[in-house]
Amino acid sequence: VTGSKLGVDFGGTRIKAGRVEGARVEGLESCPTPKGGPSAVFDAITELLSALDREPAAVGVAIPGEVDGEGRIYRLPNVPGFEGVPIGPELSARLGCRVVIENDSTCAALGELVAGHGREHRSFLVATLGTGVGGGLVVEKKLRRGRFGFAAEVGHILIDSSSDAWPCGCGRTGCMEAYAGTRGLLRDYAERGGKAQEPRDVFLAARRGEVEARATVARVGRALGTGLAQAQKVLDLDALVFAGGISASFDLLEAELRAALTQHVHGPPTGTIPLLVSELGNEAGVLGAGHLPSL
Ligand SMILES: [Zn+2]
Repeated sequence: VTGSKLGVDFGGTRIKAGRVEGARVEGLESCPTPKGGPSAVFDAITELLSALDREPAAVGVAIPGEVDGEGRIYRLPNVPGFEGVPIGPELSARLGCRVVIENDSTCAALGELVAGHGREHRSFLVATLGTGVGGGLVVEKKLRRGRFGFAAEVGHILIDSSSDAWPCGCGRTGCMEAYAGTRGLLRDYAERGGKAQEPRDVFLAARRGEVEARATVARVGRALGTGLAQAQKVLDLDALVFAGGISASFDLLEAELRAALTQHVHGPPTGTIPLLVSELGNEAGVLGAGHLPSL
């Protein structure tokens, strides 16, 4: 195969890649993310891609962090050693084609626009729920990255400005992510006396009806509703879409999230918008990334 568009989802634990055609991903391949720093990661990506297409037309890469307009990594909190690394130019030189790098939540929004809820809704925000809380924004069927590429960073909307607000991965305190991300969720559960290694344990306990787990899950839902109400005040969107690992438990979060959303929006009807869960699953990042070069 030659001349195809390839999408790469560079995650903290796995790298996935596939050929992207319209709403489809073909030949999905993956490998564990190497721990040996940038050159080991570039080797792994190059190897995955050469199995898919030896002469690709263009490549898009989703990264779990932030990148500047020149494809240089600004922040990659969960994969050490990448700060300032010009991943775009490096990969472009190795692969011999154009390479476009974007934040993974932005790619999730692009995937949703092409193959997901973007088919029924013109303006929506995709909130990716996981270790961090990311966001991607589509307005009137167009992905909006903003002047510096930081549009829709909803995880860092301030929801608590008190002096004992919880710390966020971004270095500030009181961000929505500090309460709704994995770390905040586990901290809240621990403070209630619960024991859990990962969010899934807390959601399972909540499903069984455990009081502490239910209280933690309610607090996460409330944090998300409070933060997203601020975005909704600015944007008056058609829908909010949830993606990422924690979105699998969205049914447990929904009631509190909706209650906080309707409590905090400015125009009451804007709190009634559909709350949707992405149906793109495992391939979402690769799909969105593969469409980056076409933007
Ligand atoms: Zn933050």
